[in-house]
Amino acid sequence: MNFLSLIEAKREGKTLASEQIRGFIREFTAGKIPDYQMAAMLMAIYFRGLNTAETTALTLVMRDSGDVLKFPKDKRPLVDKHSTGGIGDKVSLPLAPLLVCLGFRVPMISGRGLGITGGTLDKLDSIPGFQTLLPAEEIVEQVQKVGCVICGQTDKMVPADKKIYALRDASGTVPSITLITASILSKKLAESLDALILDVKFGSAAFMQTKADARKLAQAMVALGNECGTNTRAILTDMNTPLGRAAGNWLEVKEGVACLEPRGSRREEAHSNSTKSGKSLLTSAATSDDLRSLILDCAAHLLVQTSKSKSLSAARKLAEDCLNSGAPRQKWDEMIVAQGADLKAFNRKLALDSTAKVAVEVKSEKSGYISKCNARIIGEVIRDLGGGRLTKESVINYDVGVGRIAKPGERVEKSGVLCRIHAANARQADAAVAHLKTAFEISARRPVVARLVHETVLPPRR
Ligand code: URA
Repeated sequence: MNFLSLIEAKREGKTLASEQIRGFIREFTAGKIPDYQMAAMLMAIYFRGLNTAETTALTLVMRDSGDVLKFPKDKRPLVDKHSTGGIGDKVSLPLAPLLVCLGFRVPMISGRGLGITGGTLDKLDSIPGFQTLLPAEEIVEQVQKVGCVICGQTDKMVPADKKIYALRDASGTVPSITLITASILSKKLAESLDALILDVKFGSAAFMQTKADARKLAQAMVALGNECGTNTRAILTDMNTPLGRAAGNWLEVKEGVACLEPRGSRREEAHSNSTKSGKSLLTSAATSDDLRSLILDCAAHLLVQTSKSKSLSAARKLAEDCLNSGAPRQKWDEMIVAQGADLKAFNRKLALDSTAKVAVEVKSEKSGYISKCNARIIGEVIRDLGGGRLTKESVINYDVGVGRIAKPGERVEKSGVLCRIHAANARQADAAVAHLKTAFEISARRPVVARLVHETVLPPRR
């Protein structure tokens, strides 16, 4: 193959044949094309883009570059959710066991965080004994037996994406909608899903800062997912405010588990946030309505996508009843035990008020209503506390983070708690207090609170 002529063709805006795309991706993955030539091709794609047939060919050859999970025939549909990432986004943790209890199988292959955005695998690594690296056969076995797994991509899954992503990172070609779409979907399609719901975030702490850009990415992913045979939908959600009340790896596990406690139960009460009533909070793992609502929305879409429910409202009611039954909370324990967790140690850790060396509250300097809680600043604080990665090699402190976050629309009194910092030492905690104070704005009047879910993106009509 004359790869140079393909680079030149794309540079001139010409369309490549599917066979040509399949050929150079296979050769690059096999180490037969040098990085400098592939980087030039990526830059040509960045500027010229790929049409639907080209993007489909790219995605499928990337998917097929390694193991594709193969499941036995089963009446339980295979489903998953993908989020483009944000602050406090722990939806995957409670969603997986909830979906199992709704009759699905969930092979949730997740990733790690980089920069201010947290990753599901980093959160799970904070659970004593939990294993995130499983070979493909064990992933399939656990899904068949338990119903769900949340783990990392094995070395043998989608190796083409690993190589291409590293090169994109080093060549300034990450922010290409075509390349992002192929990268995300090649990994999700390797799970052999029947249906996929995408949570595409926009806002100050999101990969896509504007709603228009998030919509473009969502439309591209929805079209391609359906083109490749997986029923795919997307929701556009606001990531200007953190999701839930906690951000930071272990704190998010605690909040995710609290979400699985039946509403109104004594165990949920023990976790619940009481800033609204002015009482002090009981634990750092308080849940909030936005988080629970998003979990139910994702489940409801998947129920409709797989024809298990006729309407979104009926599906939401089904999901809510299921969550309140307590069955997903038990399924969570079953899943983490299947992946090696020490349940007693996990429960002991869950009962602790804080696992970090230092915990300090950030107090409000005046009374009023929270009108802004800046997710980007909270993400930066967590990264600076050691809870996020500056580079891929960074070592994470799982115990640090920000909990008891007061959310827009809530009333706070002078000296009331805006949030609580969990830090490794007093010096870091002091720096975090100063930075976090700039994250909150307080107004005399109750503000109109921005909605969380702005749009649903459905496949284009044929
Ligand atoms: N996440 C991915 O997996 N790939 C991208 O290209 C961007 C975000």
